Amino acid sequence: MKKLLTFMLAVSAAAPLSAQIQVDTSGAGALVAQAMDHSEVMQNLQYLSDAIGPRLSGSAAMRKSNDWVAERFRAYGLAASLESYSFGVTWERGPISVNLVSPFRRALLAYSWAWTEGTGGRTVSGPVVRVSISNAEDLEANRDRIRGAWVMLNEPSFVWNPDGPAMTAADSAARRAEVERRQEAARAANADTSAAARERRQQFGIDRPFLMKKYGALGTITDGSKEHTLVTMSGSPNRVSPLPNIVVSHEDYLMLARQVETDLAPRIEATIDNRTGTAPVEQWNTIGEIRGTERPGQVVILGAHLDSWDHAQGVTDNGASSMAVVEAARIIARSGLKPKRTIRFILFSGEEQGLLGSRAYAAAHAAEADSIQAVMVLDNGTGMILGQALQGRNELEQLWTDLLAPVAHLGAGRVRQANKGGTDHLSFVPYGVPAFNFDQEPRGYNHTHHSQSDTFDKAIASDLRQASAVMAVTAFALANLPELLPRGEKRPVTPSAPAQPSPGLAAGR
Ligand SMILES: [Zn+2]
Repeated sequence: MKKLLTFMLAVSAAAPLSAQIQVDTSGAGALVAQAMDHSEVMQNLQYLSDAIGPRLSGSAAMRKSNDWVAERFRAYGLAASLESYSFGVTWERGPISVNLVSPFRRALLAYSWAWTEGTGGRTVSGPVVRVSISNAEDLEANRDRIRGAWVMLNEPSFVWNPDGPAMTAADSAARRAEVERRQEAARAANADTSAAARERRQQFGIDRPFLMKKYGALGTITDGSKEHTLVTMSGSPNRVSPLPNIVVSHEDYLMLARQVETDLAPRIEATIDNRTGTAPVEQWNTIGEIRGTERPGQVVILGAHLDSWDHAQGVTDNGASSMAVVEAARIIARSGLKPKRTIRFILFSGEEQGLLGSRAYAAAHAAEADSIQAVMVLDNGTGMILGQALQGRNELEQLWTDLLAPVAHLGAGRVRQANKGGTDHLSFVPYGVPAFNFDQEPRGYNHTHHSQSDTFDKAIASDLRQASAVMAVTAFALANLPELLPRGEKRPVTPSAPAQPSPGLAAGR
């Protein structure tokens, strides 16, 4: 799940469908039994995590996982294929070494933000400075300070530490005041809401690392924004940066900020050797299919993203859900039940870089969008499914209550009116496809995801058996509904493309 993406509200004015749609759940018992008694989800997840490892889109491991999942589908009797799309340039994380050298010497835990350049393997050292650069005037005013320096551009994040000291009333009042101060500053900076001003701000955001590099900055330092020295990873081939950007732990980011504030003049040295590709490459979504017996041209899609960040094992985000989708395929295939519509199981790639694989899939299949019964994505960690969020399709509340009734005893019966962002179901919403992202128990997901602690030991076997069962049961019932669900509102789709720096700035990358 990518938190940074904003979500456009899907509007649906349709009247409640209440009991008009008859849900046949007669297959549920056999599917749940298959899920509980013959599960292969944990052994598949262990192979994915420990043998293949993390799956950064564009890497060899990504392709290996695409092929291996296709093999699993075939072993379960499904038809399987890989569908390609143009992804962007590859990026390979190389060695990194970062030391604080003054006011004392100590190694810093640091990672490169993905799709940023290194130092070409050279060791570069300089002072740490903290400046705010949100427009061309800020940049000009700080030209001399950033030259030869490592630059902290942002104020420290607010990090919730579940084991940290309890906040006093005074602490939380101070934090609230600080949040309000930042919101006010952001409002002031974005006061001009004209389209031209918005476009100018956006272009400056794209140009900033190019301009900072041109003015001699050594790189930027980013707050890891998690507790206990975990760091958040992100980045995209749509936002390749020529400037090194190192992510340090929240604790070290706070230390550097304090040292700057109190004139302790911190200095760091860094040696980084990343590799960015020069031409766009293809990536693949892996697709498995159980063909419908009566309406094979109509499709129910179960999805998860197989790609992950590369500094752990990509288990809670999103290997666990990927293997639950593969397991749902196994459950239905091995149950011997035959769906009337086709059920398609899609393991997307490129999710972490901006839903690239699912957006490409939805665009390539736009002509068939009206025959997609529903899309259901699992991407909120390793936890059991609690139920469904209606994603603006509140008229489907009774339908979802009925679909989940046979798994309500497993804890999955909750239906709520909510819009969820940040994952692959969103790619289908603009095409009017009913698309959902299951609610799950958090099980620490906000701590592990995108961090170096996203490892196999976090996977919970009983939760994954339950999630696989819930997906199999609901997908099968949707495949057998008497009718296609009503469409949502259709919206224009802008293709995802690499951000282009202003003319003259891209040279030298
Ligand atoms: Zn995810």
